[in-house]
Amino acid sequence: MFGKATPVRAVDGINLTVMPGETLGVVGESGSGKSTLGRMLLGIDSPQEGETFFDGKPMPKLGTPEWRALRARMQLVYQDPLAALDRRLTVAEQIGEPLAIHKLVPKEHRAIRVAELMVSVGLRPDQADRYPHELSGGQRQRVVIARALASRPKLLVCDEPVSALDVSIQAQVVNMLRDLQEKNGIAMVFISHDLKVVRNMADRVAVMYLGRIVEEASSDVIFAAPLHPYTKALVSSVPVPGKPLKGRTILQGEPPNPANRPSGCAFHPRCPLATDICRTSVPHLRQVADGRTAACHLLAGADQPVAA
Ligand code: SF4
Ligand code: MG
Repeated sequence: MFGKATPVRAVDGINLTVMPGETLGVVGESGSGKSTLGRMLLGIDSPQEGETFFDGKPMPKLGTPEWRALRARMQLVYQDPLAALDRRLTVAEQIGEPLAIHKLVPKEHRAIRVAELMVSVGLRPDQADRYPHELSGGQRQRVVIARALASRPKLLVCDEPVSALDVSIQAQVVNMLRDLQEKNGIAMVFISHDLKVVRNMADRVAVMYLGRIVEEASSDVIFAAPLHPYTKALVSSVPVPGKPLKGRTILQGEPPNPANRPSGCAFHPRCPLATDICRTSVPHLRQVADGRTAACHLLAGADQPVAA
């Protein structure tokens, strides 16, 4: 706990766009502000400054009827499916709930739609009467995803959706999510500390460090040729079969406390390339090549903010 200190800026100066049918991966260590960013995109948290837009319109205030109406079109899937589900409801009741609340499907057709949704996430219709505690972790997350899809969302924010699952089923759930996202043309924000998973999912990747985006580019480009020293360290920490650990950049130490943000470039205490300017001057996110931005003094133009 930080006591009565000034509020911590969990995310700062973020400018992000996600298009229909696109998956934006958001990566960074824990405490980098990834989850706060996801919640802001859904209007659950609001930015201290600036605005969030959905479908070209400013996001309505949390809890207003306008927000509730929009909320059906923006869904969140997070790490712990058991916390997201109601223990007293069966699978069919959980998935049918948004159909009833948002009056999406007439009562007489609901069972069919629920069965369709169950099949689309790889559940069997005969599992409809089970309760959450009678399911495996992977099956529970499939129920959460089916319920999220019930309202035909335009935006799906997945915050570490498979990190609590058995490694053996993570790939299955990730591949299913990717297929559903593609098939339904959903804009997806996929938040994860696991770069292997993000690489498999994302069209574009934003790398966060202590509440700011330090690099953004297409997934292929980020993984093939990372520019920012932090991205380089993250990417080189992903094991590649047959490639020795020697020669890789190893990330030293833990991320600093966001309440005690280092001066200048927040990454400087851990950056092997830091120089004097890094300790005093904040590098701004700049366009460094076509469709790619980064915030580092080593990259040209980082002393000027990128034009909005
Ligand atoms: Fe490292 Fe300096 Fe670049 Fe920050 S601005 S990432 S400290 S080289
Ligand atoms: Mg998080």
